[in-house]
Amino acid sequence: MFNALLLEESGKETKASVQRLNENQLADGDVLVKVDYSSLNYKDAMAITGKGKIVRQWPMVPGIDFAGTVLASDNPDYRIGDEVILTGWGVGEQHWGGMAEKASVKGEWLVPLPGTMSAKRAMAIGTAGLTAMLSLMALEEAGIKPEQGPVLVTGATGGVGSIAVRLLAKAGYEVHAETGRPQHAAWLRDLGANEVIERAEFDKEPAALESQRWAGAIDGVGGRTLARILSQTRMNGAVAACGLAGGVALNTTVMPFILRGVKLLGIDSVYISKERRLAAWQRLQESLPLDFEEQSEVYTLEQSITAAQDLLAGKLKGRVLIQP
Ligand code: NDP
Repeated sequence: MFNALLLEESGKETKASVQRLNENQLADGDVLVKVDYSSLNYKDAMAITGKGKIVRQWPMVPGIDFAGTVLASDNPDYRIGDEVILTGWGVGEQHWGGMAEKASVKGEWLVPLPGTMSAKRAMAIGTAGLTAMLSLMALEEAGIKPEQGPVLVTGATGGVGSIAVRLLAKAGYEVHAETGRPQHAAWLRDLGANEVIERAEFDKEPAALESQRWAGAIDGVGGRTLARILSQTRMNGAVAACGLAGGVALNTTVMPFILRGVKLLGIDSVYISKERRLAAWQRLQESLPLDFEEQSEVYTLEQSITAAQDLLAGKLKGRVLIQP
């Protein structure tokens, strides 16, 4: 038996409760993992509160990521005692996820914990950090260099945003952080932001082309904010679009693309290749401060229900760990 946060469909509502489950209820993955930590991402909050159509199969154990220790394995790549990370692959959406003491998944979805990284550090980074790193890598591959000008991060106090600010600053970029919560400006500056910009400045209909401001951007907000960033991106700049916290529609024109050579880079962390995952995790291990994992709140499975509501209400900042 093991404890898990279980989501059940109750009419149009989602009911979330901590329950004792039987191991034989777990999916037949080829690796059984003792979960040390999971984390609370935007997608988890949408699933737990029932605010978004995240869950594809009921009942569901949420948790799109986890880090832990292998308890049993039929996969030749993993042995009992190995420490592993899982992010993505529809876990916590179509397959039972990390907000449980145990999870059974396919070995091919796992990556080994890099070097000396602890499970706690891995989940303080989590899907959000992986996405931030993939966004930075995409900007670099698009040729965006620190000397080309400022890089904007939107939704900067959130999980992806706050790690993106740190990673860009560490890589030498001038970072401008956009936030709807200017009360956290001092914290964002501590993370490495050179400037903090209020959300109201972006959340407006853009002109087809505006004054050129950004060499690059990491955007977790989407919607009008993304449209505005595109119209303000400098010649040959690039925008990594990784999120939708502000909306899914993108009403823009081709002008930034054809007159300024702006590149729009789509970022997906769920189904990226193992090779790219390993490269990103290795860089994450090297790029974040030694005490990074001590800066996140740790919640129990029970507390994750309220934390999910708080995340969507804009009451949390940075990363939240879940310890089953
Ligand atoms: P968080 O909730 O931690 O961060 C989102 C941030 O966006 C908030 O903190 C807030 O920042 C800002 N925000 C929230 N609502 C709005 C709004 N209505 N308008 C403008 N800004 C808003 O979520 P995560 O960091 O976990 O995820 C961020 C986004 O990235 C989500 O859309 C998520 O789905 C996406 N994502 C995508 C992945 C991928 O593979 N592409 C993987 C992981 C996440 P502030 O208060 O500072 O303005």
